[in-house]
Amino acid sequence: MARRPYISNWAGNQRFQPTEIARPASEDELGAVIASATQTDRQLRVMGAGHSFTAAAVTGDIHVTMHDLDQVHHVDTATGRVTVGGGITIQALNRELDRHGLALANMGDIDKQSIAGAISTSTHGTGLAFTGFGAQIRGLRIVDADGGSHDVDAGNEPELFANARVSLGALGVISRVTLQTVPSFRIHAIEQPEPLDEVLDHWRERIDTADHFEFFMLPGSHQAMTKTNRRTDDEPAPLSRFGYTRDKLLLENVGFDLLCRVARRWPRSVPKLSRIIATGGGRREYTDRSFDVFTTPRLVKFYETEWSLPVDAIPEAVREVNAMARSLAAPIIFPIEVRTTAGDDVPLSTAHGRESGYIAAHVYNGTSHDEYFANIAAIARAHGGRPHWGKLHNETAGSLAALYPEWDRFQAARANADPHGRFSNTYLDRVFGPLPG
Ligand SMILES: Cc1cc2nc3c(=O)[nH]c(=O)nc-3n(C[C@H](O)[C@H](O)[C@H](O)COP(=O)(O)OP(=O)(O)OC[C@H]3O[C@@H](n4cnc5c(N)ncnc54)[C@H](O)[C@@H]3O)c2cc1C
Repeated sequence: MARRPYISNWAGNQRFQPTEIARPASEDELGAVIASATQTDRQLRVMGAGHSFTAAAVTGDIHVTMHDLDQVHHVDTATGRVTVGGGITIQALNRELDRHGLALANMGDIDKQSIAGAISTSTHGTGLAFTGFGAQIRGLRIVDADGGSHDVDAGNEPELFANARVSLGALGVISRVTLQTVPSFRIHAIEQPEPLDEVLDHWRERIDTADHFEFFMLPGSHQAMTKTNRRTDDEPAPLSRFGYTRDKLLLENVGFDLLCRVARRWPRSVPKLSRIIATGGGRREYTDRSFDVFTTPRLVKFYETEWSLPVDAIPEAVREVNAMARSLAAPIIFPIEVRTTAGDDVPLSTAHGRESGYIAAHVYNGTSHDEYFANIAAIARAHGGRPHWGKLHNETAGSLAALYPEWDRFQAARANADPHGRFSNTYLDRVFGPLPG
């Protein structure tokens, strides 16, 4: 008998061996896979692009991959409403939108995720006037535990729609997504090193005056690398091919990977290497298509935790994180990323009900992160922080419930949509609590 294959996520920290792999080629086939799982009393988990660091998509039973449900179903250029298959990658979606003169209003810093996977963990980019993906959704097609399809929106099955916008696949499988897009636009970007204290002292002004502001910093450093992005209709003036290759591919990926390897092998070299990295990035100014500016190649594998805080807590929390990082026995070489989003009304969105600031911390793959991530979590929790659903954390339903005012509303939707835990797994049982079964 052939050995059952292992599946792993992008970071390689989640590896599992499902009993069965299903790759439906149509919504009907997807419905049949789910109906059969229910009839035989089995569990199934959908994986999009496997870019979550948590065990959100892990299963020991039926693994469903959505790669073939990646069609563009409908594009309405007048309203900007676009309906696509849940398995389409954000990269393919961006290209298709661009052909129609449309664009995503905002997005994260990579485009490799599937759209349904990105929605499901509350994926976000940066910009105080812009929400994460969940609140950009206007309709979903959800396949339920019996294999039946539901087209849900604010008028039709509104409770299922409201909750499914961030749900880790707990309310059914998303086979179609209708997004509200915007006319395509370009971004004028300024990326430059700045003193961290100046950035934090003027935090509110910086995030209010740029459309998309964010910064990176090495843990413990006094220097920030800021990105101040403004939406514009100006003609593109992109980085030269040489500049792009040097800065985005070589410095930020190949060279950085080399430094990380050295640091992992010889931890005592970290302070010296940190100085090289902190001073390595100069000033860049360019204008390009929105999705080319939002995304950056991520060729270096890492593990990540990210916390959403009330946005005005960011300066104090970042200073606490920095002080903590300086006290670590093994210093960290991987940058911290700080971003913002508007608040929204999605029950389990990490930005639910509040303008949010995000602190994301990373370590090079294969590096121990327990102490560092636990310290970040303690600081974030003290500021009312909520962990990203797709990034590493140790929270449980018991601690998460108090962070979400509409927790019970989501729990009711889950109990209604999946009373027997067909769509559950160990991670969902941990973060949402077990279902009666
Ligand atoms: C290099 C890198 C960069 C990243 N950058 C960002 C960023 O800028 N901002 C940010 O917020 N996050 C970021 N992330 C996290 C990432 O966006 C999320 O983890 C996202 O959920 C991954 O999408 P995916 O398609 O890989 O989903 P997966 O990881 O495969 O799945 C995530 C969850 O969604 C469920 N799911 C997937 N497809 C469906 C479906 N069709 N129906 C129902 N449920 C489904 C899965 O069961 C699982 O629970 C990054 C991750 C990496 C590795």
